[in-house]
Amino acid sequence: VFITFEGIEGSGKSTHARKLFEHLRSRGYPCIFTQEPGGTPLGEKIRSILLNPESGDIDAFTEVLLFEASRREHITKIIHPALKKGEIVICVRFSDSTLAYQGYGRKIPLDTINYLNKLVTENLQPDLTFLLDVTPEVGLRRAFAHTPREEIRFEKEFEKKENLLHEIREGFLELARKNPHRIKVINSCRPKEKVFEDIRKEVESLLKQ
Ligand code: C5P
Repeated sequence: VFITFEGIEGSGKSTHARKLFEHLRSRGYPCIFTQEPGGTPLGEKIRSILLNPESGDIDAFTEVLLFEASRREHITKIIHPALKKGEIVICVRFSDSTLAYQGYGRKIPLDTINYLNKLVTENLQPDLTFLLDVTPEVGLRRAFAHTPREEIRFEKEFEKKENLLHEIREGFLELARKNPHRIKVINSCRPKEKVFEDIRKEVESLLKQ
């Protein structure tokens, strides 16, 4: 069983994915928690290229190719082996992130990204995807609450990112409308306990099938 968590920054993806992992493990299910780029040395190198300011402005299509390369590495080294062993794989970010960020956000044609996603994943699709939905305002406040120089950075980064994140959020919601059986939209502006309750119920009904 393959479960992914998607959403913009500060939507609570990692928190709830970890919580789900702990919950299932405590009930005796074999499972792993992972996130792109998956903690392999090559994956981490690709991530540092993407996030390092020294890389300068990265062309949007180059960015897609780097994310796809890191996804391929993550699938072959981590996700596939775990699924083969019959483990439940809980993963933060997957193909939908590339569609939302580089497609809806940076305007690379969705067909192109879909084609590349299919190529690198060999059609591996999550059985269930949680889209943790928050407004960019709430998401960025939460994301920056973890950093020390929060207010100054927040104001600066917020102006830069708000518009783009708005489009990315709408992109995620559009993907959910197109894939209603796989992608469950969870309103993540609510208290954590309520959010997790919805996640737990969905997963339990999937595991009963
Ligand atoms: O996964 P995480 O939130 O740590 O991602 C780090 C950054 O990479 C985020 O700020 C996000 O904007 C960016 N990202 C991206 N395109 C993706 C996935 C993540 O631009 N497909």
